[in-house]
Amino acid sequence: MTPSDRHYSPALRRGPLADPFTYSLYACAPYRGCGHGCAYCDGRAEKYYVEGEFDRDIVIREDLPERLARELPSLREWGPVSLGSGVTDSYQPCEREHRVTRQLAKALSSMPDHRDMGGMGPLPVVILTKSAGILDDLDVWSRVNARSAVLVLVSITSLDEGLRRDFEPGASSFEDRLDVLKRFKAAGCLTGALTMPFLPGINDGIDSMHRLFAALKALRVDFALSGGLTLRPGRQKEHFFRVLQDTRPELMDEHRKIYREERASGAPLRSYQLELMAKINEARRGLELPWMLPHRDLRRLLEPHDELAVLFRQMIELFRGRGVDIKRLSSALTRYEAWLKERRTEFRRHRKLPSNWLSERLRSALTCSELAQVLDNRKLTDFAGRVILDRAILDPLTLRLVDSHEEITPRHSADSQHQLQ
Ligand code: SF4
Repeated sequence: MTPSDRHYSPALRRGPLADPFTYSLYACAPYRGCGHGCAYCDGRAEKYYVEGEFDRDIVIREDLPERLARELPSLREWGPVSLGSGVTDSYQPCEREHRVTRQLAKALSSMPDHRDMGGMGPLPVVILTKSAGILDDLDVWSRVNARSAVLVLVSITSLDEGLRRDFEPGASSFEDRLDVLKRFKAAGCLTGALTMPFLPGINDGIDSMHRLFAALKALRVDFALSGGLTLRPGRQKEHFFRVLQDTRPELMDEHRKIYREERASGAPLRSYQLELMAKINEARRGLELPWMLPHRDLRRLLEPHDELAVLFRQMIELFRGRGVDIKRLSSALTRYEAWLKERRTEFRRHRKLPSNWLSERLRSALTCSELAQVLDNRKLTDFAGRVILDRAILDPLTLRLVDSHEEITPRHSADSQHQLQ
């Protein structure tokens, strides 16, 4: 059940861009496979090559904390580490026995701080979980938060325990997950809820969603990202349909219809997506619950060059949700991301460049005409200048920039129409 895996190297995987979903630059997964056994988990999909029984044959990366501790002092790029991935939960049941995540947390909490010498500070961390087991490590994560930042993302889609027992049998109760959000918020960490996936005919009713969003709002989570169920043809879809047949056989026909197109992405019929999006917007109405991490908080996690890329992505989603044409912004983002990837490759190749080289490079590109040429959009270049040079903040409701010392009032907290993932 616990084949040790000592052959994954290095401990931290790093991308060429920050992940727009978790905001992370680095990823570190203590396990592979997941004992929470969610019926809809897309970690079962063939695409992820998880061998054996997904919820029983868990790979335990026991040597990962040691490798991480060795690696941290030599890093040159500041940005968040995400713990976990789409195919594992860092606080799944086997963490109680193996404590690999706790050891990783300790390594991250004791990362040296070289800011006094013009070097890098400790890295921020993003943890995505469905388990109250994370509370065992609240002490260590509070220390990490005090030195950099911690964002805890809790996945929760209902307040109905019957649904949890049928579809997320190994995960913590919904009440316990709300408690996680409450206690991490009280500890000063950033908190977000992943209210996904809403399952057709099961937890996608407006009243049920509204109760959930209201509970999250009462906990003052920083944002709640919502989305529907995707079912990739193959193992993921077959497993979900087996569970559905056992627990809600009356919904089989509806699900077969909604997922009949067998798209590789697992997306449902477009008509269902639109219907769900309208219901989610209705359920969130009046709550002023942000859809995504507010810009001010994003800045705690990312360096300016990554902040700008993620901000452009967020703006695309916000504009799309309001029916605004996003073609020019999308192509400007594509060009900016290509520019950033090239600069990052250059930075990684030349080990003598200082750790703030990329952000300084962006500043200089803004002050000459280089970034204007990349973006090929005067308004967007002015916008980037105000964000990066003046440190202005995007108000997600009005989509205007405000000075960073100005308070964004609750009214400005993005109760916006939004497009589904
Ligand atoms: S908690 Fe996440 S990784 Fe684990 S089974 Fe559920 S969806 Fe999959």
